[in-house]
Amino acid sequence: MNQLSMFGENIALLIGILTCLGFAGIIGLVLYTSLRAAHTARRSSKSLAAYDKSRRDARGRLLPPLGAGICEQCGDTRKPVHFLLDGSRLCRQCLDARPGKS
Ligand SMILES: [Zn+2]
Repeated sequence: MNQLSMFGENIALLIGILTCLGFAGIIGLVLYTSLRAAHTARRSSKSLAAYDKSRRDARGRLLPPLGAGICEQCGDTRKPVHFLLDGSRLCRQCLDARPGKS
């Protein structure tokens, strides 16, 4: 085997190895990107569901606007209160415990 044919074989082998590495890199990049996108979509849908749940009561209706104030039933000033349409201000616990919710 002369030097020239060995050189040709080595070049062909090198091109083959580089092509395989390139394809493996592309496949790895696509896999990484798609897994990352799926993870991000799952996380954002979970946080959106948690935000939506925090804005609704047990029966799925929207809660009244939230703000700082004093609860009219328990008198607690630390928790944020909901401003109801009839003018009363109730914290989340007292709003959930209230029998006939408006
Ligand atoms: Zn209260």
